Amino acid sequence: MDVKVFITTKGASCSECGEDLGRKAWITLVENLGALCLSCADLDHLVFLPAGDAALTRRARKHSTLAAVVLRWSRARKRYERQGLLVEEQALEQAEQECLEDGATRARRREREAERRKELDHLYVESFAEKVRQLYPHCPAGREAKIAEYACQKYSGRVGRSRDAKSLEDDAVRLAVIAHIRHQETEYDSLLAASFDRAEARAIVSEAVNGVLDEWEGSLEPGQVS
Ligand SMILES: [Zn+2]
Repeated sequence: MDVKVFITTKGASCSECGEDLGRKAWITLVENLGALCLSCADLDHLVFLPAGDAALTRRARKHSTLAAVVLRWSRARKRYERQGLLVEEQALEQAEQECLEDGATRARRREREAERRKELDHLYVESFAEKVRQLYPHCPAGREAKIAEYACQKYSGRVGRSRDAKSLEDDAVRLAVIAHIRHQETEYDSLLAASFDRAEARAIVSEAVNGVLDEWEGSLEPGQVS
C-alpha cells in the first residue's frame, strides 16, 4: 500500500523535529507520533508528479520502489482528493522516457525541470557539491551534484536549507551523503515500502551504509574489500 501524504488545511508542526510547518504543509501521519514533515518521514528525496497524466503516473508508480499518494481535503466535496504522486526521480525519468513519443510529456518535463531549478540556490548547490567531493573523494562521478541538489531543495530537509554555504558543516554534508546512500545504495526504500518502521529499516541497512561511506571516504586500505 502506498504511503499517504496530506497537504494540511490548518497549521501543523512536525512531532519529530518540531518545525512549524505552517498551513498547506506536506505531512505524513504516523501512528502514536502524529504529523511528520517529509524530511523526518524520509520522503523528501521523492519528487512530485501532479495528477493529470494517467500514462505517466502509471509508469512512474510502476518504476518507483517507494511512492506516496498526495491528498488534500476538499471542503466543497467533503473528501480527500488525490493531487498526485511522490515518486523516485529515476522512476519519473524512466516513465518520461517511455512516454517521450508524446510531445505533451516533453513540454511538461521541461516545465517541471524549470520549476525545480528555480527552487535551487545555485551557488549553494555548487559549494555543497564541492564539499561532498572533498570529504568523499571516491564517491562515483556526478553523485556529488545529485546529493547537493537533494540536500538543497527548498521543500526538503533542513540539512541543506538552514545554513549558508560558507559555513557548511562537515556534519551537514555527512548527513546528506548518508541519506543519499541509504536511499540509493541499500534496500532502505523497499523496507519502507514494505511498512518497516524507519528506525528498524535504518538499523537493518546501517552496516551497508557505513561500508559505502568508508569506500567513498577512501578510508579503506587499497585493495581492501568492504
Ligand atoms: Zn520534521
